[in-house]
Amino acid sequence: LAKERGNTYQFYTSEIGESSSKLVELEVRLRKALDQNEFQLYYQPKVSLESGTLEGLEALLRWKQPENGWVSPSEFIPLAEKTGLIRPIGEWVLRTVCRHCKLWKQQGFPPIRVSINLSMSQFQQENWVQTIYRILQEEEVSPKSIELELTESTIMHDPESIISMLKELKSVGIHLSIDDFGTGYSSLSYLKRLPIDILKIDKSFVQDLSENAEDAMIIKAIISLAHSLDLKVVAEGVEQKDQLRFLESEGCDMAQGYLFSRPLAAEQIPAMFAEFGW
Ligand code: C2E
Ligand code: CA
Ligand code: CA
Ligand code: CA
Repeated sequence: LAKERGNTYQFYTSEIGESSSKLVELEVRLRKALDQNEFQLYYQPKVSLESGTLEGLEALLRWKQPENGWVSPSEFIPLAEKTGLIRPIGEWVLRTVCRHCKLWKQQGFPPIRVSINLSMSQFQQENWVQTIYRILQEEEVSPKSIELELTESTIMHDPESIISMLKELKSVGIHLSIDDFGTGYSSLSYLKRLPIDILKIDKSFVQDLSENAEDAMIIKAIISLAHSLDLKVVAEGVEQKDQLRFLESEGCDMAQGYLFSRPLAAEQIPAMFAEFGW
């Protein structure tokens, strides 16, 4: 994992305008986090609204600094992207998801699909698709167990090359979803051409649902757009019963959020499986 020592730092400092010494310090700290196993994966269940059954899990990265405690991924992922460390971190995430899948299988649970968040810079990584295959093969995990979540901006950054990569991933059985849908700028003509399975409605729309009629309209529109393109829809950030009721009445397929469960440490997953009768 320590192979990727790209010299990307010089390139980025001016752009983000932080002092170079501070950036170097943070980069060193992040690299150390990877080497010293300070990262953990948490998992949040995705639930079917029709049957109430478990549909999958989303893997969410956590960094526990021995000196300061938990650091939010929204703080360190952007830095990891700027420094190029997102690549070894992303490989660690995929490998760790595979190992957890194998562990749960050994414990007697049926296979479950786990989705992984991908950043734009991971798609710019050379041979990224091959890296994914290699890790799945090494860890003996079926591509069908894996879903990749990417955002509209990742896709629109370089649609043609992303579409061809996604087709390749899809052809081996990996599931694909668009995350935070509605917050970026994706062209509807691309949406039709993308080999994706799922749209995830961003939690910002779900959260203001009851006070904001426009958000409710947007959610309705996304659900009907998705269904007309033969895609499933997941609503994220569902915290309240009235949000759930609205989503159910609009025919949303799945939901995720604190109402069902917070993201859980891997060790808590077997108990959650049991609760869902998995
Ligand atoms: P995201 O992919 O949109 O993930 C959803 C975020 O919403 C997660 O925040 C999750 O903990 C949080 N969440 C779930 N249910 C609720 C709810 O009911 N209410 C509220 N308010 N929040 C809820 P988290 O874990 O802090 O992750 C933040 C972002 O960091 C993620 O947003 C994703 O973009 C990124 N991220 C997380 N793990 C990874 C990773 O392994 N790789 C990459 N590249 N990015 C990651
Ligand atoms: Ca996500
Ligand atoms: Ca999201
Ligand atoms: Ca988000």
